[in-house]
Amino acid sequence: MVGAVERDEVRERFRRSGYTLTSQRRAVLEALRDSEGHPSAEEVYLAAKSRNPKVALGTVYQALSVLEEIGLIEAKRWSESPVRYDVNTEPHHDIRCTRCDAVEEIPGVDLGDFAAHIRENTPYDVTSASLVIEGVCPACQTQDG
Ligand SMILES: [Zn+2]
Repeated sequence: MVGAVERDEVRERFRRSGYTLTSQRRAVLEALRDSEGHPSAEEVYLAAKSRNPKVALGTVYQALSVLEEIGLIEAKRWSESPVRYDVNTEPHHDIRCTRCDAVEEIPGVDLGDFAAHIRENTPYDVTSASLVIEGVCPACQTQDG
């Protein structure tokens, strides 16, 4: 559920960005917040559609890109997987299972300020940095046995 403070935060982000907080964008954000884990655009679409039948897939893609741009969600890109979306915009790392496509947060791993570390080692003007972490989850490891 989205609390009152969070609603104000969402409104404020939209106000500052110049984008309009439409009912469809709100439906997409709420669908994401209520979903387990790290859904793909298709999964967000199905969840948003159940709240607001007028939501179209193209609208969901567009809403996701606006929400990402104004910093309310993060897009995660792994190999061989559609882009997944995360409402946790605090610094953290996620791992994806290469067999079943499950995605989980990795607790307790602090790589420090990764972007700052990269900046120290390149003359580039670094605007973003991300890590792709993949492996085989415990359930899939069990199936190997
Ligand atoms: Zn797995």
